Amino acid sequence: SLTDKLQNVFRNLRGKGRLTESDVKTAMKEVKMALLEADVNFKVVKQFIKAVQERAIGADVMNGLNPGQMVIKIVNDELIKLMGSETTEIALRPGNEVTVIMMVGLQGAGKTTTTAKIAGKLKEKGRKPLLAACDVYRPAAITQLQLNGEKQGVEVFSMGDKQKPVDIAKAAIEHAKKNNFNVVILDTAGRLHIDEDMMQELTDIKDAIQVDQTILVVDAMTGQDAVNVSESFHEKVGIDGVVLTKLDGDTRGGAALSIKAISGKPILYVGMGEKLSDLEQFYPDRMASRILGMGDVMSLIEKAESSIDQEKAKEMEQKFKKAQFGFDDYLESMNQMKKMGGIGNVLSMFPGMSGKMQDIEGAIDEKDLARKEAIIYSMTPKERTNPDLINPSRKARIAKGAGLPIIEVNRFIKQFDQARKMMKQVPGMMGKKSRKHGGF
Ligand code: GDP
Ligand code: MG
Repeated sequence: SLTDKLQNVFRNLRGKGRLTESDVKTAMKEVKMALLEADVNFKVVKQFIKAVQERAIGADVMNGLNPGQMVIKIVNDELIKLMGSETTEIALRPGNEVTVIMMVGLQGAGKTTTTAKIAGKLKEKGRKPLLAACDVYRPAAITQLQLNGEKQGVEVFSMGDKQKPVDIAKAAIEHAKKNNFNVVILDTAGRLHIDEDMMQELTDIKDAIQVDQTILVVDAMTGQDAVNVSESFHEKVGIDGVVLTKLDGDTRGGAALSIKAISGKPILYVGMGEKLSDLEQFYPDRMASRILGMGDVMSLIEKAESSIDQEKAKEMEQKFKKAQFGFDDYLESMNQMKKMGGIGNVLSMFPGMSGKMQDIEGAIDEKDLARKEAIIYSMTPKERTNPDLINPSRKARIAKGAGLPIIEVNRFIKQFDQARKMMKQVPGMMGKKSRKHGGF
């Protein structure tokens, strides 16, 4: 498997003092073979190897890592990048406007199952979904959807198998509007292979009604084929996102790696079983770890990363204790928080702090970090290290320098003081580290 191959490659790299260009190249040759064997698209592999090689040769090896581990870190980072880095949600219309989602894909990929799974997720979010039975070809397709809908407690709209799918879709949307549903999911028919009739039928639906999200369902077990299917559907029908099913089986990672790179569209969810609860949000970093499958090495890397952060955190903790926490430190800690995966994550890491931290959440809102930076950069170095110096006339000067109203400067400095006080009350809190986010 890819995992075993990569493990062999990196086993050879481990223990070396320094990584030479030829070390990197040899390793990359093996990685390339392994990825191709795992059914990753050839073009994607080429691009991937190039990116890793460019970063690996001449890269600074992080403290606490040996050069081999550094290469693994780079491979891991690039795998994550390849899969789109971030988790993407299905875009829904606001309020009670009806969002129309059309499920497309080959026969047997898992459309009907996934339709019901997604309905369950939407219901959890407080949405009111309606499922529309637009597969009029496959025997028992309608009954299958009805059974699934029943299990999820979600209504299924059907008109039997004598109507055209496009007419069923139209009627379903009308029914949704009249009965206060705010999402309609169209379960369409697939074929065994890419086929003009199927594409035409889907295009007809898209021409006749406003489809907000077209979601392609592909079977991870089909490997490279899943990627070709994504490409075709994207070209002919247009897709907004992908659900990769049957990842619970003995599948290779190839499809997950290539879909985003080839179609430009993100994987939204992964199917992890036949049960209707077996649908998981897609996390590129988790998928990368799964592909690399190198638990021991990955945790080493995380440790090295966190020890670097911990050095800084310790320094900062000392400053809190001595009440020396200044605006430069504030900037530094903001940037660290950004690296650690965002404010939400950081807040949840501090035991017992979530309530209190909400009071100062405004002080660490990423969105207006830029304005805070502007304020801090308008301070003199003395003011930054000694916030108590800042009096009203200094505030006026700072506001002018930052191009912001004085009221904002006042608010920020007040928040800063609050944060400073709060942090002093909680000894050791900066030492806690997130282990969820591997990347810098
Ligand atoms: P459709 O033809 O695209 O509508 O596919 P179905 O929803 O009928 O699914 C085909 C088969 O795949 C069914 O037996 C499902 O139970 C199964 N299936 C769907 N998703 C998953 C999954 O994530 N994991 C597993 N193991 N089976 C799945
Ligand atoms: Mg079906």
